[in-house]
Amino acid sequence: MNFPNPATEPDRYRFGDLYIDGEWRPGSAGTGTLVQNPWCTETLCEIRDATRADVNVAYHAAAVAQAGWGSTLPGERAALFRRVGLIMEQRKAEIVEWLVREAGSTLAKASIEWWAVHNSILEAATLPSRVEGRIIQGDYPDKENRIYRRPVGVVGVISPWNWPLHLSMRSIAPAIALGNTVVVKPAGETPITGGLLIARLFEEAGLPPGVLNVVSGPAGEIGDHFTGHDVPRVMSFTGSTAIGRRVGEFAVRSASIKKAMLELGGNGPLIVTEDVDLDHAVHIALVGKLFHQGQMCIAVNRIIVADAIHDAFVDRFVERAAALKCTDPSDPETAFGPIISQRQLNRIMQLIESANREGARQRLGGAPDGLFLPVHVFDNVTPAMTIARTEIFGPVAPILRAHCDEEAIEFANDTEFGLTSGVLCRDEGRALRIARKIQAGMTHINDIPAIDMPQLPFGGEKNSGLGRFGSRGMIEEFTTEHWISVQHSPAQYPF
Ligand code: NAP
Repeated sequence: MNFPNPATEPDRYRFGDLYIDGEWRPGSAGTGTLVQNPWCTETLCEIRDATRADVNVAYHAAAVAQAGWGSTLPGERAALFRRVGLIMEQRKAEIVEWLVREAGSTLAKASIEWWAVHNSILEAATLPSRVEGRIIQGDYPDKENRIYRRPVGVVGVISPWNWPLHLSMRSIAPAIALGNTVVVKPAGETPITGGLLIARLFEEAGLPPGVLNVVSGPAGEIGDHFTGHDVPRVMSFTGSTAIGRRVGEFAVRSASIKKAMLELGGNGPLIVTEDVDLDHAVHIALVGKLFHQGQMCIAVNRIIVADAIHDAFVDRFVERAAALKCTDPSDPETAFGPIISQRQLNRIMQLIESANREGARQRLGGAPDGLFLPVHVFDNVTPAMTIARTEIFGPVAPILRAHCDEEAIEFANDTEFGLTSGVLCRDEGRALRIARKIQAGMTHINDIPAIDMPQLPFGGEKNSGLGRFGSRGMIEEFTTEHWISVQHSPAQYPF
């Protein structure tokens, strides 16, 4: 892949600074975070880390900018998003390349991520004109109750590294479109695609200073300060359940209580009934499990297969998985690339060890090569095993055997999580009956369960989080209601 050489290309390819109040300025920590390509560990750049003082400046800039931005006309905000959409089209190759190089995305994944983000930009352009007030009749005579909707103010966004551009933008775009200003803290592995590249797109589209700010730095230094800060009114967090709990705690424990929108971990079950076309079902399970190396909150975590086809399904799954081409993610032929970091790889290796120790049968595997981990497949997995209870976030497929639909549903629900799920079943009525008994925010029938569209309610139940993305959800989350009543004639009082 011919990636532009930062030394000879225009400034837009160079990153190193934070973006605060419309200016590119170095973080004041005196330390830097090296951004590396996980496939070949080439250093892409060094970002100078933010301190708590930088976070304060960013939030202050956002607060100052909000008054002006919140009073712009809807058409003005919509026009800005249309410009961002256009710039994204012009810069598509560059954006895709960053996603490959920084996040270890395959070309296919990077292109789908670009498409998802572009869609969310176009959807955000519709939001400014969709905010409505209401007039509600109450039980007090001659009182008019007006419900006004207005922006919440400043929104803090914290995002993970797996779909960095998409998972930052799905909060940033609707928040700004609805008249808020934003400070984003991207993940340490992906400060460019999770934040700084986004700032470039908006800057080029003419977003006023302070409306979007990006601070990047070690979460140990700035994380709690970022979440507990007095300025933001909503904290939109996407990441693990463990950190999400902490973010939720800080959001309410801080001097200024704020709403925490938490999009957290998953343990997605895929139920496969005996009436499916076996090859097609295996194909769906394979892609649902292995896309982006399985590093997706909405990946298939457990495959639950009907007893009658279980053995044939496992054989076919192993055969197909073993034949996948896995090489440099920038090779268009590759199915998947590297794990994002050594820390994540170590975590997955521990899960593989636990599966072997607890009695699962390993049907496919192999030693890691650098950050590349071959596909691992286990059968004889029971719901009590660690591998079935934990979010794997890697190319490891545990397969469980179910003797009837009720048992499959019981297995599917036997988890602390409830994000996405799937049912593969030829009989759509039966599939729907199964789907409606699954405790999850999302269930997809006869498709991979990794689906996200900006107009649809994306979110989880149980420990997978609080809140919903999707246009209606975004208006709920990023605007607030103000009830103003007018008493038109003198009211009667008890004294
Ligand atoms: P993570 O460790 O929870 O990190 C997520 C973000 O939180 C990163 O930006 C991280 O910064 C930051 N962070 C860490 N400690 C913090 C603190 N004390 N205060 C504030 N921020 C803090 O998750 P991850 O490993 O990046 O991502 C994988 C997880 O995300 C999985 O569990 C996955 O299921 C979940 N996820 C959920 C969704 C969804 O929509 N439900 C989507 C994608 C991923 P640093 O990088 O600097 O540590």
